[in-house]
Amino acid sequence: MAKDELMNYEKALEMFEVVIGLEVHVELNTKTKMFCGCRNEFGDEPNTNVCPICIALPGALPAVNRTAVESSISIGLALGCQIAPNGRFARKNYFYPDLAKNFQTSQYDEPIAFEGELTVELPSGSVHTVQIERAHMEEDAGKLTHIGGSTGRIQGAEYSLVDYNRAGVPLVEIVTKPVYGAGAEAPELAAAYVRSIREIVKGLGVSDAKMERGNVRCDANVSLRPHGQAKLGTRTETKNVNSLRSIERAVRYEIQRQAALLAKGTAIIQETRHWHEDKGATSAGRPKSDADDYRYFPEPDLVPVQPSKELIESLRAKLPEKPADRRKRVQAEWGFADLEFRDVVNADLLDQIEETVKAGAKPQAARKWWTGELARIANSENKDVTELEISGAHVAELAQLVDAGKLNDRLAREVLTYVLGGEGSPAEIVAARGLEVVSDDGALIAAIDAALAKQPDVLDAIREGRMQAAGAVIGAVMQAMKGSADAGRVRELLIEKANAN
Ligand SMILES: [Zn+2]
Repeated sequence: MAKDELMNYEKALEMFEVVIGLEVHVELNTKTKMFCGCRNEFGDEPNTNVCPICIALPGALPAVNRTAVESSISIGLALGCQIAPNGRFARKNYFYPDLAKNFQTSQYDEPIAFEGELTVELPSGSVHTVQIERAHMEEDAGKLTHIGGSTGRIQGAEYSLVDYNRAGVPLVEIVTKPVYGAGAEAPELAAAYVRSIREIVKGLGVSDAKMERGNVRCDANVSLRPHGQAKLGTRTETKNVNSLRSIERAVRYEIQRQAALLAKGTAIIQETRHWHEDKGATSAGRPKSDADDYRYFPEPDLVPVQPSKELIESLRAKLPEKPADRRKRVQAEWGFADLEFRDVVNADLLDQIEETVKAGAKPQAARKWWTGELARIANSENKDVTELEISGAHVAELAQLVDAGKLNDRLAREVLTYVLGGEGSPAEIVAARGLEVVSDDGALIAAIDAALAKQPDVLDAIREGRMQAAGAVIGAVMQAMKGSADAGRVRELLIEKANAN
């Protein structure tokens, strides 16, 4: 991969205005596929969920999945879109090995939803409203696995395998209008927008919304133009970026790459690009076709989708609260300061903390565990904190054990590693491993006496008000009891002793 020349980010923004456009594909979690009765299930044996319709044998006739249509309408409504009273499917013609039909059944000039908007808040606190052009229904393609190369890409591979289980899985593609005005925060805006889309579809229950599984994926269009120029610059489209962090990095990279080319007078090529997480760089894909090249035409095998007003209104009545409203509500309920709350949102931990609080933890304790120890563990294992095998109920139980004085911080962290190791709930682990804090005063007093025998001056020091002298004895007691003492209680007992003598 040739190394691109990059312009300093601040300089790029001084010279050019950034315009982005985002296409987000959401995989719906319907039981069956978009146009046939095959199971829609991630991770099944390859090519087991296929039938004549989704692999396009001659004469097979598709029928539209009602639930997929309802989910698409719900997404459109949640994005403030209008819903088309009459929407046709269209064939988007192209050849690719993961597309047995040689066309994708999609929507072209009659999308089910159009003209919406979504307000998103950036990490800095600034708020942007993104205009949404359309949300249309389509089907996913199969999945190619390239074997033999070092990168998992087709280049250098010896052969490729195709799995059609995903072919025909319902997708909703949400397309923004060009997004202006984010300036240096364009990368953050792209990520915040996708985060909000993910929250919406998760809140609606229409998608599993797991980016690492490709349930939500983003194509990020980036173009630059000199400040003051009306005409849009030539854009590139970085395909299938599947984490929020990657979206941010990919947009930033394209800004710096395009700026360096434009400054030299080199034209930008309109093309798709791939994001390489390991190298932190994009590379050229294929020249990007204009719509004309796909020879769209109305799908003759499917009747138009004509949702009734009653259906639309019944779906509108079931919409959950908007992400921005939910944030305002939970921040007030939890009493988090703005900065604390922003950290939680940016770490993607709203759901986890909500679940933990619902399970009985105090909001601040829930926040502390998720943004502290759990984030640290995830980071050391190179995972997203949301991928850790721990439930909000477990974290709540752990926090309650600490509150009740049954665990100190050190023991709680130890218990946490066993929970993540699959040993059960914190209470079960404490019982099975005998990890409870020693709260038996008799045992603590014996340990204090043993420590004082070696440091006889400490009691006098405490009586004279030099409290820092207590630290040495508390430390010795903690060490003697292998960390299972309640340090606060040791301190109390030590002071009692000093004042009694
Ligand atoms: Zn099928």
